[in-house]
Amino acid sequence: MLPLSSLQPISHPIFTQHKITVQVKRDDQIHHIISGNKWRKLKYNLLQAQTNGAKGIITFGGSYSNHIHACAFACQQQKLPVIGIIRGEAKNQDNYTLLWAKYWGMQLSFVDRKTYRQRGEQVYLQALQKQYPEHLIIPEGGSNQLALPGVAEIINELNQQADFDTLITPVGSGGTLAGLIVGDKNQHNLLGIAVLKQQGYLENSVQALLPISAKNANNWRILNDYHLGGYAKFSPQDANKIREFSRVVGIDFEPVYSGKMILALLALIESGYFPAHHRIVILHTGGLQGLGGLIERGILMPNEWPSLPELTAQ
Ligand SMILES: *Cc1c(COP(=O)(O)O)cnc(C)c1O
Repeated sequence: MLPLSSLQPISHPIFTQHKITVQVKRDDQIHHIISGNKWRKLKYNLLQAQTNGAKGIITFGGSYSNHIHACAFACQQQKLPVIGIIRGEAKNQDNYTLLWAKYWGMQLSFVDRKTYRQRGEQVYLQALQKQYPEHLIIPEGGSNQLALPGVAEIINELNQQADFDTLITPVGSGGTLAGLIVGDKNQHNLLGIAVLKQQGYLENSVQALLPISAKNANNWRILNDYHLGGYAKFSPQDANKIREFSRVVGIDFEPVYSGKMILALLALIESGYFPAHHRIVILHTGGLQGLGGLIERGILMPNEWPSLPELTAQ
């Protein structure tokens, strides 16, 4: 099987100074719309839905969710009806992410925060399943057991592409890191950068997702000092540093996920975390569509970030 995405070496003065090599696994380039880890996580979920003849998909997300965006497009491609249960109010429904999701045919159902909080609870999910029989329910972020084999394929590809020591990924819900752990079988160091404030529950979520065969893996850890203030939080200075890094290496990153990994990478290298001649691969998890909402809300300036496909409310 040919690798789905390329592995690209990048250069930066800080890498040279510390004699570190860095390559980027370009999962952001898998497809111009559906990219990154969300596609990897959806792959076997959608296959399962097709195999079982599911009537449709139900999934969850916030108003700016990369998963909602990716899932809407993927389901349209596979002609699978999909319902997105969205946290928050319908007033957000014409934002960048949700406009596209609707355009691809996702049916949006807005729920208040209290209801949304039940998204992982058995009673709620059973009621939902009863309301929509023969639908496959995919959790927020697409992180379930079926997500893991799709992500694990990244490691198979990397093993054909290069020798390396450490693979770094941003961590939101933990599904991606869990998939990498399964695929890696203790070959490399796996370093997750938490993009939100957490104290140990992400480690537990990752552990809970792992199959028994991978539960004893001890080659991974999550670093908690690089969330920049919390989920989707960052300062204008942080955003500038990410933009500057993108300019130097010629690859776009966004400040909610991959950009936090970049700032962590730079800080870790500068602090001497990696020995000289260490070979690093960073996973570009995609998510550039999230820039749409950040620009719409005036958090980022449109002319300073890559332009995205446009769609305006009718
Ligand atoms: C969702 C997402 C992540 C986090 O992945 P998890 O599997 O939830 O940990 C990282 N990067 C991007 C761009 C994402 O959209």
